[in-house]
Amino acid sequence: MFSESTIRYGCIEVICGSMFSGKTEELIRRLKRAQFANQKIAIFKPTIDTRYSDKEVVSHDLHSVTSTPIREPEEMLNLEPDVMVVGIDEAQFFGDSIVKVCQTLANRGLRVIIAGLDTDFKGKPFGPMPALMAIAEDVQKVHAICVKCGNLANHSHRLTASKKLVVLGEKDSYEPLCRQCYNAAIEAEQEAAKA
Ligand code: ZN
Repeated sequence: MFSESTIRYGCIEVICGSMFSGKTEELIRRLKRAQFANQKIAIFKPTIDTRYSDKEVVSHDLHSVTSTPIREPEEMLNLEPDVMVVGIDEAQFFGDSIVKVCQTLANRGLRVIIAGLDTDFKGKPFGPMPALMAIAEDVQKVHAICVKCGNLANHSHRLTASKKLVVLGEKDSYEPLCRQCYNAAIEAEQEAAKA
């Protein structure tokens, strides 16, 4: 279990789960605690995430911290020298080079905290997240609650007809489902498509 009392510098932490699982809330919580400890933080997110605000990492319950939108992970390497903690939100949308960039930052002695979706709406590992989870010192899976049965939810089930992978989590586009309810929903959609 993740324990902040064991935090060292020069490490990578991953917070991952489905939509509505509280990933961003947990990222913001850790960053704010670092700030309380007078550690300088820097927060990044991909430019693709244009929800709510360009300059802020904002969770669904509207807690926010100011962030820098970037296109390429390499932009994170030009940090001010006194930054001690780097937060990254929506990391699933970055290219594979984010893995090397996070290694470089951690090797420099920084604490790197990454939040992202572990799987896409098809249930497949999302972008660089599997590799980030593999190299991290600590991985925390957070869960939403299944809207159908109340189990812990692991899946982001897409409600819209769009098949584009990069559709962001507006509340009316996705619902969190557990494994069983997700499988049932996909099966019903496949049946409906055949009819
Ligand atoms: Zn369920």
